[in-house]
Amino acid sequence: MSPMNKEQNKTLSAIFNDISNIIDNSNRVLVVSHIDPDGDALGTQLAFASYLRTLKKDVFLVKESDIPEKYNFLPDIKLIKDYKDYNTNLNIDTVIILECPGFERMGKAHNLFDDKVRIINIDHHRDSSPLGEVNWIEPMRSSVGEMVYEYFEAVGFNISKDIAFQLYTAILTDTGRFRYNSTSPRTMEIVSKLIAAGADSKQICDEVYYNFSQSTMKLTAKVLHSIEFHCDGKVCLLSLTKNMLKDSSAEMFESDGLVDFTLFTDGVVVGALIKESDKGTTRISLRSRDGINVADLAANFGGGGHFNAAGCTIDENFEDAKKTLLKLLKEALDGPGC
Ligand code: 5GP
Ligand code: MN
Repeated sequence: MSPMNKEQNKTLSAIFNDISNIIDNSNRVLVVSHIDPDGDALGTQLAFASYLRTLKKDVFLVKESDIPEKYNFLPDIKLIKDYKDYNTNLNIDTVIILECPGFERMGKAHNLFDDKVRIINIDHHRDSSPLGEVNWIEPMRSSVGEMVYEYFEAVGFNISKDIAFQLYTAILTDTGRFRYNSTSPRTMEIVSKLIAAGADSKQICDEVYYNFSQSTMKLTAKVLHSIEFHCDGKVCLLSLTKNMLKDSSAEMFESDGLVDFTLFTDGVVVGALIKESDKGTTRISLRSRDGINVADLAANFGGGGHFNAAGCTIDENFEDAKKTLLKLLKEALDGPGC
């Protein structure tokens, strides 16, 4: 039986015991998430680090790629350092992996620890691999923010105002503003507790969604201008090229959230944002309405994610990757007009 199956047969309280036992015995702890960090990745990293600092652990927060500027309001965000800013010999004894379905999604942050460390892995991706000694993986959960809240509540950790901001942001962004099916009654109960603990829902929503820089807005205009519909309007494609970035003086991280526009149109069931990359490869972000499993589509290219939100890299240049993707989408829909 795989460690993940073993874990799934455990009760939550047994998992929480395992987590706190490992943490009790830890000293130098690395808290890590996935490349191209989003609100859930950043919010949970910060909240978990705060918990560990309260327990007097030496905590190291790491990221591989740029943090979207809109998350700069998050308390302690500057504590998340680039992997290049750390010495590779940090003597880490324990690693907390949050919101990261596999070691490859961690990027070069993986170089900061060896295979002797103890690993606690908390995730809600369907395609999550068992990466550690504890693998708490619940695909039905809205966000890792929600899971981390459950753990804090179980161990009696006080939710400060800063932690409330961090976890609220994690849940808000990973539920698409409480829109996805994963938003359960329990999610909303937790959200209400976070607001009671000081999370300012209006401020957080404004910071994340209504605070574009001019360059982001210009990039958005260019990306929207590229819009294409296929398959009788069931497929919507948006493109982001290197030239668009240059012409709007924007960085790639400013494209975070743009893929959501692909589902704004009536009749669209699957949308993709196709991003030209420096390396001659192409990054794809996929979104779907119910019924189309984009995690499976992304898996065709070694990617993954959730049923309705997934991503992958196609090892082809922009134009070829677009054709390859469209062919796959047409096959997947296989209906009139495709
Ligand atoms: P986004 O389109 O917002 O970058 O990602 C949507 C979802 O798919 C997120 O849960 C993200 O972690 C996951 N995802 C994006 N790209 C990849 C990838 O290359 N591999 C895997 N396994 N998951 C991905
Ligand atoms: Mn997530």
